[in-house]
Amino acid sequence: MSELNLILLGPPGAGKGTQATRLRDDFDLAYIATGDLLRENVSEGTELGKEAKSYMDDGALVPDELVIKMIFDKVEDDGDDGFLLDGFPRNIAQADALAEELDRRGRKLTAALLVEAPDDVVIERISGRRVCSNGHVYHVVYDPPKHDAVCDQDGKPLSQRDDDREEAVRKRLSVYHETTEPLIDYYEERGLLRRFDGTRSPTEVHDHIRASIATLRLEDEL
Ligand SMILES: [Zn+2]
Repeated sequence: MSELNLILLGPPGAGKGTQATRLRDDFDLAYIATGDLLRENVSEGTELGKEAKSYMDDGALVPDELVIKMIFDKVEDDGDDGFLLDGFPRNIAQADALAEELDRRGRKLTAALLVEAPDDVVIERISGRRVCSNGHVYHVVYDPPKHDAVCDQDGKPLSQRDDDREEAVRKRLSVYHETTEPLIDYYEERGLLRRFDGTRSPTEVHDHIRASIATLRLEDEL
C-alpha cells in the first residue's frame, strides 16, 4: 500500500481533532479539514476560491464538486503518501462524488475511521469547556483551573463559548445523527468502516487506530 487515504468520522467532542493531528504526523498525510480548506482558498484568492466566494456571496452553498476539486488540489500539493479528510463527506451524495473522483484518479479509499462517543459523553465534554480570551482551554471537571473561572496562565476570566452550551451541542448532535450517521452504514456496507471507542483516552484511541492501519497494510500486501 503506497498511500493511505483516510476519512475521519464521528460526532463533535469525540476527539477526532486530536487523532487527526497524531495521524498526520505518524504517516505524513495531507490533513484536510474542509472548513479550513474553503476559508484558505477564499482568503488566498485561488481560482476555486473565487468561484466558491461567488456562491457564498449569493448566500448559496458551495457545490460539492467545487469542494472536491479543492480537496484534490491539496492532495496533489502535499498528499503523496495519502490524505486524511475531516469534515467531508458529510452526506451520501458527497461520499458518492468523492468515490467517483478517487476512481477517476486511480486512487481508492483505505478506510473510514469512526471515533464514536455517546451523546451524554459528548455533551459533558463540550459543555464543560471554559476558555479565556487568549484561547486557553479548561474543563470544569477534567481540567479545572487552579482558581475558579480564572485562567492559570494569564489571569483572564474564563467563559463558555456559545457553541459549547448544552442546547447548541444538542443541536449539533442532532444534525450529526441525521446527516452524517448514514455514512456509517455506507462505509460499513463497502467494508471500509473501522470503529474506535472515543470514550477511551486519546493515547489508547491512537494506539488502536495505528494497530488497525497496520492490519490494513498487512492485508493489502497479502
Ligand atoms: Zn488564558
